[in-house]
Amino acid sequence: MPTETRAGLVDSFGRRHNNLRVSVTDRCNLRCVYCMPENVAFLPRAEVLTFEEIERVVRVATTLGIDKVRLTGGEPLLRRDLPRLVELLAVVPGLSDIGLTTNGILLAREARRLRDAGLARINISLDTMDRGKFQQITRRDDFDRVIEGILAAKEAGFHPIKINAVAIRGFTEDDVVLLARFALEHGLEMRFIEYMPLDAGRLWEREKVLFAAEMIELLETGIAPLKPTADQDPRAPALDYEYTDGSGRVGFIASVSRPFCMSCNRIRITAEGKLRNCLFSLEETDLRALLRTGGSDDQIAQAVRDSVAAKWEGHEINTARFIQPERMMHSIGG
Ligand code: SAM
Ligand code: SF4
Repeated sequence: MPTETRAGLVDSFGRRHNNLRVSVTDRCNLRCVYCMPENVAFLPRAEVLTFEEIERVVRVATTLGIDKVRLTGGEPLLRRDLPRLVELLAVVPGLSDIGLTTNGILLAREARRLRDAGLARINISLDTMDRGKFQQITRRDDFDRVIEGILAAKEAGFHPIKINAVAIRGFTEDDVVLLARFALEHGLEMRFIEYMPLDAGRLWEREKVLFAAEMIELLETGIAPLKPTADQDPRAPALDYEYTDGSGRVGFIASVSRPFCMSCNRIRITAEGKLRNCLFSLEETDLRALLRTGGSDDQIAQAVRDSVAAKWEGHEINTARFIQPERMMHSIGG
């Protein structure tokens, strides 16, 4: 283990990083239009980090102050035996929280095992309550399986369960209240994520983003007035609200209308072991090269520290200076 422990991953803007998002695969069983193209060349399996390699990176990262990990992808449940990775991570000293972001399609089969393995949190993506629109946005006809997956996660005892919907102007407006009602009915927490420029077709434009403020208006008219929650974590990306009638909560990830770069506490590792200090990074650090050529834990720790030290101020989506990364969302790990 590295000799310097708990020094903390603090960048040149004073941001302390405790949150690591780990992509376990770039493959997916959906083809969401905002995330990937219909036809795409996936990584050869040998290039993808093994569970043992992921566990080693996480172990080293926890010595630097990482205490939360979220498994993502691509679709993480396409990775065979994912609960085994959760089990490996659950005993890493210093790791207090393991989460998963999934499209829910394979969840009915895995929910119970994931929970038993030590998974604490689960976010499931669902952009619409309409089967036809689901097929239009994901290019697959799997709406029912996602609903089954959500209900299975509830049955397995996950709480809270967050439902993520990407908010796209011209697509999402009619679904805002329907999704929020579905979440309330089932005791789930709805979270709307403003559409970000990480799509395959590079079709993103600011005009295509449905903003948090507009969704709040729709929800206040369609459900009940909203107020910010008292326990709002200033470092969390979501703006959390609760309905004043006490029926539940709803969150917004307002990456475009209210960027939260100045409180960012996240780093990411791609399925093939590239460390990215920002979702929109244009540069990466190759941790797999270190892992597979006999690099020491100290060398891995130094590479992580160097990457964090070099982190830029923020993504600049709202300026002409913004450059969309080559990678699409599915190959970064959202
Ligand atoms: N396949 C899993 C899923 O869909 O939940 C995990 C990976 S997916 C890349 C993680 C999250 O990123 C999902 O909630 C998805 O909706 C979101 N996402 C993907 N592309 C996005 C984009 N261009 N803008 C905003 N959110 C996006
Ligand atoms: Fe797959 Fe998730 Fe991307 Fe949709 S958002 S294509 S489910 S990785």
